[in-house]
Amino acid sequence: MKTTNQPQATIVSADGWYTARDAGCYVDASRGIYTIDRIIAIARSHGMGEPADCSEIEHCPADHTSSGWAGCEFAGEVEDECDDYMNEHQTVDGHYWGRSEQGDWGLWEIEADA
Ligand SMILES: [Zn+2]
Repeated sequence: MKTTNQPQATIVSADGWYTARDAGCYVDASRGIYTIDRIIAIARSHGMGEPADCSEIEHCPADHTSSGWAGCEFAGEVEDECDDYMNEHQTVDGHYWGRSEQGDWGLWEIEADA
């Protein structure tokens, strides 16, 4: 898994691209409700399909047309979808895609239980 020629972490669409060296924050928690749009953009850049438009299923308070997924009732579910996609398609041994304890989204080392 360790290679020395990996380019720095940028968004590309190639499977198995990341290594442990790429671990870290990809979307800062300071983006707040807008974090989800960035997470979706990253997952989509790696080949994930457009998340289902929840507004057609049920009433949603978010205006998906102008503000993306910010404030969407289902943002959490869509984020899980993104996490699953990234963990399945951009697997890094001993690491996971998702939120850190601080709420930042990225590629993090799985800590062994103490
Ligand atoms: Zn929605």
